[in-house]
Amino acid sequence: MSLWPTPNYPRVETYPKQKDSFIVLAGPCSIESPEQVEEIAAEISQYPITFMRGGVYRAGTYPREEFGLQRDLLFDWKEIAKKHKLDIVVEVLDIRLLDVIDRAADAFQIGARHMQDYALLKEISKTPKTVFLKRNMGAKLDEFLGACEYLLQGSCKPVLIERGSSSYHDHVRWELSVSTIAAIKNKCHVPIIVDASHGSGRRSLVLPLTLSGIAAGADGFLVETHPTPDLSLSDANQAYPLEDFGHIFDKALGIRNIR
Ligand code: PEP
Ligand code: MN
Repeated sequence: MSLWPTPNYPRVETYPKQKDSFIVLAGPCSIESPEQVEEIAAEISQYPITFMRGGVYRAGTYPREEFGLQRDLLFDWKEIAKKHKLDIVVEVLDIRLLDVIDRAADAFQIGARHMQDYALLKEISKTPKTVFLKRNMGAKLDEFLGACEYLLQGSCKPVLIERGSSSYHDHVRWELSVSTIAAIKNKCHVPIIVDASHGSGRRSLVLPLTLSGIAAGADGFLVETHPTPDLSLSDANQAYPLEDFGHIFDKALGIRNIR
């Protein structure tokens, strides 16, 4: 008898095909002020987006970039989004914040740095809400799908996000892995979307790389957008101008429709 019997849990390969949909996450890297949220929500709510995104509790690569203690803004954001009929997706950095975030969030995001926080994955999997899982910048396909299987053990609806790998290239901050998107589409029916904002770190590359991800089979996209991109408190180099949001939305939908 095996000491380690194979448990009978849902495997990523057996996840049922989802209804075709176009999943779009748009919003700032960080929630900065009620005024900023209002301006962004007013613009993006003119399009059929799935969730408004924004970092409330933020993780930075360096501790000096950590300024995510804007807990009160979470509830301001929720109110403003509701006024514009937008649902919101909020990153959960820490299992201890799950309860408070759950009061406002319509969906959760697990960031790249937490993809293998298995305690967090297990706890969050119990929600009936959608959970967006970002691939860690160093994770291989099987590690990404393994993390996804933790989510499949619960009742949440997982959606994967390809957000780029560490690479030797210095013209990008992280390098989008289009092959990961295509390979996942060959392997399972868990939806996957492309995040070319983090997957390049460069404003000028966000549009072409978003379109390449959609062409490779992505079920939608994530874009960080800001009314004054250069003044974004975080990830300013990749912030996509809010006034151009309609352009990227239309182009991405156009590629999806001819795919
Ligand atoms: C984010 O989406 O704001 C974020 C921090 O992304 P990542 O976890 O991919 O770095
Ligand atoms: Mn960001």
